[in-house]
Parts: sequence; C-alpha cells; structure tokens
Amino acid sequence: MEIIEYDSGTDHERVLYGRDEASGYRGIIAVHDTRLGPALGGARFWNYASEDDALVDVLRLSRGMTYKNALAGLPFGGGKSIIIGDNRTGEREAIFRSHGRFVETLGGTYLTAEDVGTSTSDMEFVLKETQHVAGLAHRSGDPSPATARGVFRAMQAAAMHRWATDELAGRRVALQGCGHVGHYLAKELYEAGAKLILTDVDAERVERVASECRAERVEPQEIYAVEADIFAPCALGGILNDETIPQLKVEIVAGAANNQLLAARHGDALAARGILYAPDYAANAGGVINGCIELLDWKHSDARAKVEAIYDTLLEIFRRAEIDGVHTYEAADEIAEARLQYAHA
Ligand code: NAD
Repeated sequence: MEIIEYDSGTDHERVLYGRDEASGYRGIIAVHDTRLGPALGGARFWNYASEDDALVDVLRLSRGMTYKNALAGLPFGGGKSIIIGDNRTGEREAIFRSHGRFVETLGGTYLTAEDVGTSTSDMEFVLKETQHVAGLAHRSGDPSPATARGVFRAMQAAAMHRWATDELAGRRVALQGCGHVGHYLAKELYEAGAKLILTDVDAERVERVASECRAERVEPQEIYAVEADIFAPCALGGILNDETIPQLKVEIVAGAANNQLLAARHGDALAARGILYAPDYAANAGGVINGCIELLDWKHSDARAKVEAIYDTLLEIFRRAEIDGVHTYEAADEIAEARLQYAHA
C-alpha cells in the first residue's frame, strides 16, 4: 500500500492518503484532534466526484467528531476516514482489508467504525487486519438504533425548551431519509404518537417505513416546505442552506445527519427565522456512545443511560445559548471547546 502524508493547512494533526493498486482501494484518513484520546470516527464509503471533494468532507467530518466526542464526555478525539468508490461493490473483503491495513499503520491513534456506505459485516473484514476497529456485529453492533434514540431525546429536549412539554404525541415531524437511523427514528416517533411526513430518494425505503408508521409521503424536494412542528434531517449533510431555510415551516430542527448546516451563517439564518436548532453532533452522539460498549467495555445499560442523557446535554446547550446570547450551534461549540481546553491543561 502506498501512503502519503498530506499537509492540509488546517488544524488537523494528520491527514493521510492511502492507495492499494491490488484491491483498487483509495482512501483518506484524517486525525483531527487526540487531546482527549485516540481519534474515533467512522469510515464513509462514497463515490465522490473528485479527491478534493473527498478531502473537504473528511476534514469537516473529522473535526465534527472531535466536538461530538468532547460534548458526549467520551475519552476519544476526533477522526474520520473516507473510502472513495461505489459503495455497492461486491469486492468488499479486498477493499475493507486494505482499509484495515491502512488504519493499522496509525498504530491506534485512529479507530475506525462503520458510517454511510459501510456496515458491521464490512468491519469484520477490517478486523482481519487491525484491532483498531469498532462497530462489530458480535460486539456493540449496529449503532443506528442508539443514534435514533439519541435524536428522539434531542427532539424531546427541544420540545421542552420551546413548548414547555416534551410530549411529542400529536406533533407533526417531517423526516428526510428513511435509511438506518431514519427508520428507527420513525418507529420511535410513531410509537410516541407523532404524525410523520416522510421522504427518501429510494422509493422502496420510504414505502416500507411509511406503511409501518402510517405516514404521509412527499417527494424529496418537497420535504422542506412541509407544514410541521419539527424537521428531522436524517440523510445527508449541508441541507440547511440559502435555498432550503426560507422554505421551512417548522419550529424545531433536530436530526441525525452530520454537518446539517452548509455554513455557520446558516445557523444564524435558522435563529433569525425563530427556528430552534438542535446541533447535529450533540443530537446524533448515540452511535458513538454505543461504540463504547466494545471500546471501553461498558455495560449496555451504561451506554443506554448515556444516550438518554442527550436530553440533558441539549437542555444545557439551549440554556447556555440564551444566557450567553449566542446561537445554539455556538453554545455547543463553547461547551465542547471548554472540555478540550481542560483536557489540554
Ligand atoms: P443510510 O445511508 O442508511 O440512510 C440515509 C438515507 O437517506 C438513505 O435511505 C438514502 O436513500 C436517503 N437519502 C439520500 N439522499 C437523500 C435526499 N436528497 N433526500 C432524501 N433522502 C435521501 O445512513 P444512516 O446510517 O441512516 O445515517 C443517516 C445520517 O445520519 C448520515 O448523515 C450519517 O452520517 C448520520 N449519522 C448516522 C449514525 C448512525 O449510527 N448510523 C450516527 C451518527 C450520524
């Protein structure tokens, strides 16, 4: 495998490109910050238009992991990896064993796991080459149910802050993305009595979740303008932007997708429209918390309690934002940065 260290000119500790001619593997690992512990973050398998697009994504996602792990109070830093290519490939063993060898060269400063386009069974291939992997089927397993539960708790906290009740029965929730997390979240919301309006670019997925949860369906581009109480982005990042924010007819945005704000100013734009934003990396920490079952030998009950506590973290963020007169995404950053500074000191 050919590995090249890259100077990204950012505050990342290390950025490495890996290429394995034999398997066709092309990947990037970004280690953003290890002050709190080894950099933990999943491997995203995606067909990027260019290596530059992949680089931008891995730099953003790895920084997000530093903040997510700090805010969740976990002894991990932030990192992420990207595998460039078609994630529907059948050549999974060769690709993921190459990824494992790449991860192994970092000697444990980066811990990989599953993410968009990868699965628990892919991580079993990674395990054949390195111990520095989480999200294994026979250990903590699929993180999506825990992530969905955490997002549900974040919604309840946002409801409490906005409406002085965390009861979601009767609330209308517009949910974008009926994949792993979206599916579990839809079920939680349905069981809590919420009314769902769903979309996905994959017609089969939206059909299945809609029939299970007696939900309405809309076309993907219609989801932003749906009249609802809560918008839950559970597909891709960057979907809160100049085009979508003016269309929103909700009071709360809380979802699982990473990097929902296209830029920081879009957090300001949401607040200017009176919309309460639950910062994504605070709301979607359930998956990484679940990973501590195998990484830190936590009991399932400990992980579950920590996921439930996402409710308290969100209330703290909302209160801090009010007291300091800042936006919610800034308040979340402040709390995470204070933890990083403390660890450094
Ligand atoms: P997934 O790939 O299983 O699901 C994503 C879904 O979004 C798919 O069904 C896809 O068809 C749909 N989608 C893609 N583009 C769309 C569009 N433009 N409009 C509507 N639907 C679209 O992924 P997932 O594991 O459910 O994760 C969802 C999001 O949550 C991702 O951003 C991921 O990074 C984030 N996240 C996931 C976890 C986890 O535990 N899985 C943890 C933290 C964050």
